[in-house]
Amino acid sequence: MDRSQQLIGMAEKFGAHNYHPLPVVLERGKGIHVWDVAGRKYLDFLSSYSALNFGHSHPALVSTLVEQAQALAVCSRAFHSEQLCLFSADLARFCQMDAILPMNSGAEAVETAIKIARKWGYERKKVQADSAKIIVMDKNFHGRTIGVISASSEPLYRKNFGPFTPGFEIVPFDNVKALQSAVDHSTVAILLEPIQAEAGVQIPHKGFLQEVQNICQKQNCLLMLDEIQTGLGRTGKEFCYQYEEIKPDVLIMGKSLGGGLLPLSAVAARSDVMEVMTPGTHGSTFGGMPLSCAVGRTALWLLRKEGLADRAAKLGELVREKLAGENLPHVKEVRGRGLLIGIELKAEARGARRYCEKLADEGVLCKETHENVIRIAPPLIIEEPELMGGVDKVIHVIRSLA
Ligand SMILES: *Cc1c(COP(=O)(O)O)cnc(C)c1O
Repeated sequence: MDRSQQLIGMAEKFGAHNYHPLPVVLERGKGIHVWDVAGRKYLDFLSSYSALNFGHSHPALVSTLVEQAQALAVCSRAFHSEQLCLFSADLARFCQMDAILPMNSGAEAVETAIKIARKWGYERKKVQADSAKIIVMDKNFHGRTIGVISASSEPLYRKNFGPFTPGFEIVPFDNVKALQSAVDHSTVAILLEPIQAEAGVQIPHKGFLQEVQNICQKQNCLLMLDEIQTGLGRTGKEFCYQYEEIKPDVLIMGKSLGGGLLPLSAVAARSDVMEVMTPGTHGSTFGGMPLSCAVGRTALWLLRKEGLADRAAKLGELVREKLAGENLPHVKEVRGRGLLIGIELKAEARGARRYCEKLADEGVLCKETHENVIRIAPPLIIEEPELMGGVDKVIHVIRSLA
């Protein structure tokens, strides 16, 4: 039995089976590539769901990590830290919001946003005690905690995990009428992803976010955008909402914020909203630790210095043009923005999983999204020849499995 098989056996025996990974055991990563334990090299076309916009172990991020680890890594929020002070200022300026609340995982940041919205609702909008409502979208993905899955419409995420947290109403995505009729006096926020990545890269019609903002302004509720996956350059803008002339009241970030080295998430909000969070009302031991904050600052600096959002826009255009010109068998639709691209297969393709397995054999790591979508989301630092080389392999596999 080879070493990969042995290790996978250990994972099966000793690990919980809450994932169904491709049968590849990775050992090393550098830039856009990863290597498995047998020394095979792969192109990373998933980027850990956008946590790796800067690729693996970017030298600037690694040196910040090492330096900060030697200076001060953790100090809790019982004290100020230089790095958290600087990170808050850097991130607030970067996303043009007033105030920052740092957390670790994306789900925690969403939980935090939910708490902020409810507290704001009771204290500022004067919603009746314990009746705040947050409107969310059908097929959303905001993470896996009990609070967050209480807002999910996906049976797989929910089954046998009840009872759930009340206070959410689910409406169809990209449907202004449904949203209008769901909003009422007890509504404190509308929470949505500007593109639903996990739902298979679902893009709303142009103007949808504008209309959501109009509803929020008219009904005095908060527009909360989950840009954990779409933000920080992935979709060809620094934030995906910038495709429209809007600004959220609450912006949720994660994934690449930690530079692909650490879990770091954050909620950014207008000051009159963030003000409801007062000492003792919320916290996290590791949230905003100096180590993550230092890496986060370098990540923001790198994103601008390398112009990664513009790169994603240009390169994504090339990929979609190329795929559209190929007339591929069993492909229903290719859609995306920047380097977040979904190839939706028809039912007769018999699922995206076998395509991803074949692609792994060919040295390209993709992951199926739901049943029928192959997602292409390489690190944003990728160069055109490597990108198009990977796309050629995707095209080859789609043809060869037809
Ligand atoms: C990944 C993701 C989350 C959850 O982030 P975790 O770090 O896995 O908790 C939430 N929202 C969106 C849109 C995501 O892509």
